[in-house]
Amino acid sequence: MIILVLNCGSSSLKYQVLDMKGDNDYSLLAKGLVERIGDKVGILTHQVTGSDKYKIEKPIPDHTEGIKSVLNLLTDSQHGVLKSLKDIDAVGHRVAHGGEYFFCSVAVNEDVISKIEKCCELAPLHNPANLLGIRAVENLMPGTPQVAVFDTSFHQTMPDYAYMYAIPYEYYDKYKIRRYGFHGTSHKYVAQKACDFTGMDIDKSKIITCHLGNGSSITAVKNGKSVDTSMGFTPVEGVAMGTRCGNIDAGVITFLEEKEHLNASGINALLNKKSGLLGVSELSSDCRDIEEGAASGNAKAALAQEMLYYGIKKYIGSYAAAMGGLDMIVFTGGIGENSSITREQVCEGLEFLGVDFDKDANRGVRGKDAILTKKGSKVTVVAITTNEELVIARDTMNIVKK
Ligand code: AMP
Repeated sequence: MIILVLNCGSSSLKYQVLDMKGDNDYSLLAKGLVERIGDKVGILTHQVTGSDKYKIEKPIPDHTEGIKSVLNLLTDSQHGVLKSLKDIDAVGHRVAHGGEYFFCSVAVNEDVISKIEKCCELAPLHNPANLLGIRAVENLMPGTPQVAVFDTSFHQTMPDYAYMYAIPYEYYDKYKIRRYGFHGTSHKYVAQKACDFTGMDIDKSKIITCHLGNGSSITAVKNGKSVDTSMGFTPVEGVAMGTRCGNIDAGVITFLEEKEHLNASGINALLNKKSGLLGVSELSSDCRDIEEGAASGNAKAALAQEMLYYGIKKYIGSYAAAMGGLDMIVFTGGIGENSSITREQVCEGLEFLGVDFDKDANRGVRGKDAILTKKGSKVTVVAITTNEELVIARDTMNIVKK
């Protein structure tokens, strides 16, 4: 089954075409990225598996034009991988926010579209773009089944005492203000993959999944279900990220509003774009630059790094307490998969929880699945590569087959 996976952002879209033969039997045919949608000149970077990247620069006024260009390339005689658009059996969309409507991935119909629309208020940058993608496919490939896979749905199993904020209840009723959590497809995927990899029974397990990348979130997964997660109403809560501040005393926000004469959008930009590793280090949002900076004596880079490790460690401690124990810690995402120093520093001092970390096994593990604890360690620590597009393609295949 040929599946087109689309991940539409506000001014960009990522795509992959996968030939799915089974949940774990698949091949990636092509992937690419359309950037600067709506700018004077847009950029489409397309790559057929096994070939060099091919780049087109031209005006791409909107998402429909972006998707049209992608579909043209996919069926192009020189750069394409398909004979015709009819070869695409289904399209899977990454959708940022499913609110309290969606506990799992669903086939797209008008009712689903109207619920995604209702969630636009909760994800004003992403959900409208996701809807544009769904509508564009409807127009360009009428009749092709579409599936929506939500970033939030895995976390819908959290109990109310974990997802409510202690503000007047009326705001939950009125605006649905609560913790939703994000990166759900990744947390679900790596928790299962880590269990398959180590032979653990997910239905009898207490796992903490650390998705650490430009955006980071940590999830407590008990018996295969998300019971708590660090991102909240928006993706700004949790550990310090590339440019997002993570947890902060709400009093700082009102204080800065007054002192710096900031309005809501100024505060939003400050907390989302100017904070995190970038804000503290005054050097970079990129973990590799921070590691290099700290290693060469940059004190602010070293501080940013320490804050990140400490923040992750605190979540691990609190989620172990919340679940009443711990069997496995999973590292994933760009930082979790590649940064051995982050994994080592986070796990340092966790012996009391039963972590017998193997520094030698950890060293040099990059972009591959590996066990990072010594034999007999009560808690197993693993690095596991994530693949959100594969989850979307799998869910799409399984829903369309039904
Ligand atoms: P993601 O958002 O999952 O793509 O992750 C991006 C983050 O992963 C950036 O902060 C990168 O610096 C970080 N990253 C990627 N490769 C490495 C590496 N080899 N060492 C440390 N951090 C890395």
